[in-house]
Amino acid sequence: MTDGIIIKGIGGFYYVDTGNGIIECRARGLFREQNIEPLVGDRVSIRINKEDSRGYIEEIYPRETVLTRPPIANVSQLIIVMSIDNPKINLWFLDRLIVIGHDANLNIIICINKSDIDDEKANLITDMYRNIGYETIKTSTKTKEGIDKLYILLQNQISVFSGPSGVGKSSLLNAINPALNLKTGEISKKLSRGKHTTRHVELFKLQENTFVSDTPGFSSLDINHIDKNKLDTYFIDIYKNSQKCKFSNCLHINEPGCFVISQVKNNKIYKSRYENYISMLNEIKNNRRF
Ligand code: GDP
Ligand code: ZN
Repeated sequence: MTDGIIIKGIGGFYYVDTGNGIIECRARGLFREQNIEPLVGDRVSIRINKEDSRGYIEEIYPRETVLTRPPIANVSQLIIVMSIDNPKINLWFLDRLIVIGHDANLNIIICINKSDIDDEKANLITDMYRNIGYETIKTSTKTKEGIDKLYILLQNQISVFSGPSGVGKSSLLNAINPALNLKTGEISKKLSRGKHTTRHVELFKLQENTFVSDTPGFSSLDINHIDKNKLDTYFIDIYKNSQKCKFSNCLHINEPGCFVISQVKNNKIYKSRYENYISMLNEIKNNRRF
């Protein structure tokens, strides 16, 4: 028996990286009977057939995390990418991806790309989110700023990149490892989408124990499944202050003795963060069905 990680699955075949080559495997019928589908990212135990060097997946180890869109198991880290311009930075989108990342139990890194366009503005945003408590990194695929540091942050993790289209996710991955050879730029991507090539999620191995998904994470930005009483735990700056609210179930809307609101007034919590919290809270409340 050999251990490995599924890096790709196509038509009932699973490609398992054993650290000693990639083995084409089938899953044991048992999994189908139990309605378990192996996922890219699954850590598995396989039995390799000596004659043809193909294998069978015998066991799937317990999953630490599961993403559904795209379907990947054991992702540990989310790299949220925003660009300074083209497209303009969108804090609402950024805060939303942070919430979704926390909800999926991922370590979060905020990457502000295209620093070559406006370094000062890039500093402003990275400082802001570092103050809040996040690991942030400023990058440019043009000047190569931050690329080495980003590579270091990816080590020993399974990472997924996420962020609006055009911010430079594919360019960053190519800068880290040119062998990835991902398509970049709106037009070339649209053209390639026109061809009927089926896209499969694939994990790309940067080095031993270090993988990145070649597909952006979270094609759905839905937050309606999140409990409204739990939303503030996904805003770490708000949550830190919520312990001092008068009521333990305070939602920080307009409750008496709300410490969060007083911190917003005293500029101790960024206004945009609080506004995005309230906007997401309203969204969850309005969509709730009982
Ligand atoms: P994705 O949709 O997030 O994968 O973005 P792409 O990697 O396809 O990049 C979109 C466009 O932004 C391309 O035209 C890239 O050349 C450009 N781009 C990517 N990174 C940078 C950067 O650091 N600085 C500048 N100025 N442009 C960049
Ligand atoms: Zn409160």
